[in-house]
Amino acid sequence: MTSLADLPIRDDLRGLTPYGAPQKPVRIALNVNENTHPVPPEVIAHVTAAIEREMRSINRYPDREFTLLREHLAGYLGGGLAPEQIWAANGSNEVIQHILQAFGGPGRRVLGFPPTYSMHAIIATGTGTQWVEGARDDDYRLSPETAAAAVERTDPDLVFLCAPNNPTGTPLGLDTIAAVYEASRGIVMVDEAYAEFMPEGKASALSLLEGRPRLVVSRTMSKAFAFAGGRLGYLAAEPALTDALRLVRLPYHLSALTQAAAVAALEHAAAMLATVGAIRDQRDRLVVELARLGYAPHESWANFVLFGGVTDPHATFERLLEHDILIRDLGIANHLRVTAGTEAETTEFLEVLGRINR
Ligand SMILES: *Cc1c(COP(=O)(O)O)cnc(C)c1O
Repeated sequence: MTSLADLPIRDDLRGLTPYGAPQKPVRIALNVNENTHPVPPEVIAHVTAAIEREMRSINRYPDREFTLLREHLAGYLGGGLAPEQIWAANGSNEVIQHILQAFGGPGRRVLGFPPTYSMHAIIATGTGTQWVEGARDDDYRLSPETAAAAVERTDPDLVFLCAPNNPTGTPLGLDTIAAVYEASRGIVMVDEAYAEFMPEGKASALSLLEGRPRLVVSRTMSKAFAFAGGRLGYLAAEPALTDALRLVRLPYHLSALTQAAAVAALEHAAAMLATVGAIRDQRDRLVVELARLGYAPHESWANFVLFGGVTDPHATFERLLEHDILIRDLGIANHLRVTAGTEAETTEFLEVLGRINR
């Protein structure tokens, strides 16, 4: 059999491993931060009808500029954003790839602050962009001074921030984002995949867009919006920046079915987001209960909790899996990450974990 080593693959891809969150058929999957609540039946009916309508013209290419979807996403984000400020693709991973294709690439570098979303470095590599790292402060925080110093040291073409940060859940202050923008000459992208889970009334980086033409805020329908299988991510930025992404996207990258389904789901935004409060409650409960069990959970503004104090993360991961519960072992020493699921899922996770010897 031919192995990868025998193929004339790019030198910079040799020896790498692909993104690999385990996909196992378990009863309780709390490993990739999906919204684990069922989609409301009225939304399913509305999306299905929209897809059926779309099928009547499926012999034609879709709207290359996904105009209607952009209007709906702009409306969803609010704050006076215009449709021309919105870009979308098949998941925010593809949005990030477009950013790197347009503003990164060979000879350019992107700065990130690990531990952070592993796909940032993987997509950087895939586009031939060098991934460089800055250190965080205590408890995974990132102060304006620390972040700006890393920018000055590495002089990156792009900076990727993650707010709240995955996999740690750590909040990121708008002051840090503003400081990074001031210190840098390149694109600053804030990945806000978990923005809807932030405490009520906390400002998003969207509020910083005005007057900052190099700033990009990316979002996704995969997490709070309960649409991970639909594959729809998006960003907000200056119209000139979204226009630049048209140079690198493949024509018709968003299928007619994806566009129709996402528009229909956005028409039911309130119903799709109805479980966010309940998920926040379970996240806060996880922090309290994990501490009670003797673990060291970190503060989280997202829908997951990273907890330390795990003697053997791999063993605990496997013991939970024996009970049909899948969480995430990210290779951070003595830590595991768990998604806040439904109340029943969280209860079962905590009960089983309580019975496992640390
Ligand atoms: C889950 C996640 C995404 C979502 O990616 P999609 O391609 O939109 O599903 C993006 N960024 C971060 C930080 C995430 O954790």
